[in-house]
Amino acid sequence: MAVDFDFTIIGGGVIGLACARALAKHGSVLLVEQHSIFGGETSSRNSEVIHAGLYYPSGSLKETLCLRGRKQLYTYCEEQDIPHRRIGKLIVAPSLDHPKLAQLEQKAHALNIPISRLTATELREREPQVNAAEALLSPETGIIDSHVYMLRLSQDAERRGGLLMKHTGFKRAASITSHANNHWHVTLTTTDGEYTVNSKALINAAGLHSHDVAQACGHPLDTLPPLHLCRGHYFSYSGQRPFNHLIYPLPEENLTGLGIHATLDLGGQVRFGPDTQYLESKVTLTDNDIYTVSPDLKETFASAIQSYFPEIHSNRLTPDYAGIRPKLSRANESAADFTFVNPRPLHEPPLLHLLGIESPGLTASLAIADEVVKRLTDNLSAL
Ligand SMILES: Cc1cc2nc3c(=O)[nH]c(=O)nc-3n(C[C@H](O)[C@H](O)[C@H](O)COP(=O)(O)OP(=O)(O)OC[C@H]3O[C@@H](n4cnc5c(N)ncnc54)[C@H](O)[C@@H]3O)c2cc1C
Repeated sequence: MAVDFDFTIIGGGVIGLACARALAKHGSVLLVEQHSIFGGETSSRNSEVIHAGLYYPSGSLKETLCLRGRKQLYTYCEEQDIPHRRIGKLIVAPSLDHPKLAQLEQKAHALNIPISRLTATELREREPQVNAAEALLSPETGIIDSHVYMLRLSQDAERRGGLLMKHTGFKRAASITSHANNHWHVTLTTTDGEYTVNSKALINAAGLHSHDVAQACGHPLDTLPPLHLCRGHYFSYSGQRPFNHLIYPLPEENLTGLGIHATLDLGGQVRFGPDTQYLESKVTLTDNDIYTVSPDLKETFASAIQSYFPEIHSNRLTPDYAGIRPKLSRANESAADFTFVNPRPLHEPPLLHLLGIESPGLTASLAIADEVVKRLTDNLSAL
């Protein structure tokens, strides 16, 4: 039986779109997205920061793909006219000689990431509103319009012949192995009902739903690292813009989050967040309230922000939006890495689950896509 597509990608967030663009150079591509827009889940609910790559364990995929992806992303932004700015970030320490600040500085030197240490006076000259004993300045950190970025990825993928379908949900897939050809029999749902396609390879880029999708491909959940959903809320700040850089406190223990930081968007609007709130495993992702930001969090935010921005007053904070991290570790565990699971033996059709693609997934997206191409094309040629 002839296959309909070489690659079927489940999920039209930034990762699925980057994969569609990259894989369309190597064969025919179908991407399915359940919602009416691409990137409507985590990819449009983040800080839109291009990370330098300072935070991640040495040699981890998060580190390697962030470093590679950041360079690729800046080049892509310039080539494709995507709004972005290398605005620079200040990581501020509450006391002198803080070991966490020293660790970040050493990491930057080891990875050749530009960094400089500022005294309290030098910091005040740059950011008079910020109070800290010392700071690191990371000039490579930037901001991006993630919506234009995703639009360009989808346009590129389509220009290369990819078929990108919205309003199309992945339901299940069964592997068909035969002498003639191995492939996936994929069942999709649309507003018109169910239909099926045959695909040589499957890529699970379903973000928060990746574990459900893996299960629907016949992969038992107990063989995968468990998923922990961790929400982050944002508050917007009203008033004159107090900073010119992104301002970050020191990261949380186990890198659960980067601390409630100040980001600026390309329009100069300041927002604070995200915090970290692990959700109960029973939570339903389709629940309308899941992305609601409670005004009750305002005082907690204000007191966290006061540690570096003493002038903050809670009445300047307005609940904005929330995003959910698909974590593979709990708060008290070391942060898990991006996880690529290829559960099939080599003689079966290729399948790749992308799990735990939390921050810096946006920064790393082009490098993640290259990694997917490498793993799948190695796999296909071995068949
Ligand atoms: C609070 C927060 C802040 C962050 N800040 C940053 C940052 O500043 N910089 C950075 O680099 N990264 C950041 N990230 C990480 C980044 O946002 C993510 O790594 C990235 O968006 C993940 O993209 P994705 O495509 O894997 O997932 P998603 O954007 O969630 O896309 C998955 C898609 O799959 C679709 N889907 C799921 N199931 C199905 C199905 N059965 N059928 C069809 N479609 C399906 C969903 O509808 C969804 O659109 C942040 C994340 C969070 C939560």
